Amino acid sequence: MIECSNIYKSYGAIPVLKGISLTVAERETFTIIGPNGAGKTTLFKVLTGEVPANAGVVTFNGENITRLSASARVHRGFGRTFQVARILPCNSVLENLIIALEARARRTERGSLLQLRPSDRTWDDAAEIAGRISLLNKVDIPARFLSHGDRKRLELGVTLALKPKILMMDEPTAGMSPGDRNATIDMIVRVKDEDRLTIMLTEHDMDVVAHLSDRIMVMNYGEAIAVGTLSDIRDNAAVRDIYLGEE
Ligand code: ATP
Repeated sequence: MIECSNIYKSYGAIPVLKGISLTVAERETFTIIGPNGAGKTTLFKVLTGEVPANAGVVTFNGENITRLSASARVHRGFGRTFQVARILPCNSVLENLIIALEARARRTERGSLLQLRPSDRTWDDAAEIAGRISLLNKVDIPARFLSHGDRKRLELGVTLALKPKILMMDEPTAGMSPGDRNATIDMIVRVKDEDRLTIMLTEHDMDVVAHLSDRIMVMNYGEAIAVGTLSDIRDNAAVRDIYLGEE
């Protein structure tokens, strides 16, 4: 479904991605792990079009999207969540979802709710998503008053409202309590199944990695040093040395 080959990216003189290639199949959950600064988020940004690569090719369902903008990639089916949830803090849970649903319907950027006239169908869809992300009892609460875990769940709901084909989640459980983390793992498994999603993750928590991943890529200093199942990478001597050895 998504493929990249020989991706290079530098910030100034500092190389951050040094020839990364990967292929993620439809309906796969593919996780990128590696020490801080390995280049995981930068690779996500290149795949979603937030930053341009210096070299390399990205294809999505066979189309070369290397030069497409981030918003064009959203229209092709990219959904993305961030380490710090990006939601509209002053709008309620339901308003955040309605704005995302309307934005998708109009194929525009998210706008002010004042300009929107949601249909009954949109209200129903927003309530349905609120149920899926376990926020039905908090629909009227402004997003800024939500807990960290609820904000991350709302961001997932907003992303689902855009009906992605591939969901790219940067550290989806970062900063969560163990209870919140387990609930989020279950939610990701459920929405993947319900919406027939392909998922890419970055993650530091090896429990989350073990629960969710079909395959894992280990990065270090901008290079992919191993790709495979959890047991493949656990058996990899280079991975044990530079990463799992630290656990
Ligand atoms: P973490 O696990 O801590 O989130 P990461 O593997 O996601 O790390 P990146 O965030 O991709 O790593 O960062 C890779 C390297 O690029 C780091 O050394 C970082 O300081 C550097 N870097 C990231 N963004 C920029 C930027 N906009 N300008 C300059 N350097 C940057």
